[in-house]
Amino acid sequence: MISLEASNASWNARDLAALWHPCTQMHDHADGRTETSAIPLLPIRSALGAWLTDMEGRRYLDAVSSWWTCLFGHRDPRLVAAIKAQLDELDHVLLAGFGHAPAIELAESLLRVAPPGLAKAFYADNGSAAVEVALKMAFHFHRNRGDVQRKKFIALGNGYHGETLGALAVTDVPLYRQTYAPLLLEPLFAPSPDSYLAEPGEDAEACALRAAEGLRELLERHGHTICAMILEPLVQCAGGMRMHHPRYLAEARQLCDAHGVLLIADEIAVGFGRTGTLFVCEQAGIAPDLMLLSKGLTGGMLPLAAVLVTQRIYDAFYAEHATGKAFLHSHSYTGNPLACSVARAVLATFANEPVLERNRATAARMSALAAPLAEHPNVAQVRQTGMILAIEMVADARTRWPFEARERRGLRAYRHALSRGVLLRPLGDVLYWMPPYCIDEDELALLTTVTHEAIDAASTP
Ligand SMILES: *Cc1c(COP(=O)(O)O)cnc(C)c1O
Repeated sequence: MISLEASNASWNARDLAALWHPCTQMHDHADGRTETSAIPLLPIRSALGAWLTDMEGRRYLDAVSSWWTCLFGHRDPRLVAAIKAQLDELDHVLLAGFGHAPAIELAESLLRVAPPGLAKAFYADNGSAAVEVALKMAFHFHRNRGDVQRKKFIALGNGYHGETLGALAVTDVPLYRQTYAPLLLEPLFAPSPDSYLAEPGEDAEACALRAAEGLRELLERHGHTICAMILEPLVQCAGGMRMHHPRYLAEARQLCDAHGVLLIADEIAVGFGRTGTLFVCEQAGIAPDLMLLSKGLTGGMLPLAAVLVTQRIYDAFYAEHATGKAFLHSHSYTGNPLACSVARAVLATFANEPVLERNRATAARMSALAAPLAEHPNVAQVRQTGMILAIEMVADARTRWPFEARERRGLRAYRHALSRGVLLRPLGDVLYWMPPYCIDEDELALLTTVTHEAIDAASTP
């Protein structure tokens, strides 16, 4: 018999009475819904490696790294030790007027491995806040240099940069943006280089070049009014794990330079070895003017974000106090020592261990295991960039005709996978694998089997 404290049901009743969950229609979890329509709500007691364990002792393989944060696996001993040690030294101190070893050493380590030219680190405490910092900084940079005409941003179609008002403004995912559109800044959206949108006979590179042509036209017309362009390099994650050719990044870098526009690379989801290199920009041989990091920065342990910028940007703010040029943005927990110390341990892990090589091997394994899924009549595409692998489920693979959104097919796949002990939370009808780096051969085999079943479960009429 399970005691009350150990039953999922009793925790869920308390949960529903007190909590409002993110990105959730709470009605989906309501009591009394039928077994086939309710979405299970899972109270988690503990986690280790690639696994979560619920209150009743059932285990779930965390195939999405708990929203892409959990880099090396849950409770990685190196990261746990870093936080514990830091707790015995310094909990928190304001970062205005004060410094501390974790913040300083983390900044040094980040700048050492970042693309060339990035010279200063500014901290925030989550990804959306990093986007806000970058947008404000880019606007203010031009003002400080006397260019008051530049008030607009360019973002990519289908891009995602977070859900605070500024970050949401440069996001083009209707699910998040539509309701709040009347409140938002209006950026110019350039066509997405997404290779799923390639025209017949066009390869990924040609598709990227066509999108770059769209960007060129936009900049030719509006370039002198633009502060910055923001993009997710190589993978538009929340937009459905849509992927593009690195050539686009090289083109965007050139075009931004030609028009005096700053380039903001949002590596919040894809940074830290996820795609085979430490940072994605390396694969296109470009360096952005601002680079945004969060999610994996602390290996999934504590909230933290960093905005890395060039010396040129820093210098535009550096002047006598009376000039009013300072960047006065702050968050109470800016540069929190516990978060910085665990991020320092993340970087030490990359420095001391062949993480990237291991990830490349895991990515090759993922590719081989997923290849047969592409033959499924309801799979339009299996695509992959490093350790991100996405499966586009559709009503008809040949015509790529999508399922009706209201049928919530992805949700069926999610429910099936959970019943088999795998957390495979989809983006609409896109299933994806974005597992912790510690995932092993047996776990990948389980993931493959359950994914196949989940697609079958989702696509039966
Ligand atoms: C998750 C995400 C953000 C927002 O980060 P939060 O910490 O969730 O606010 C911004 N950009 C990208 C690309 C992301 O994936």
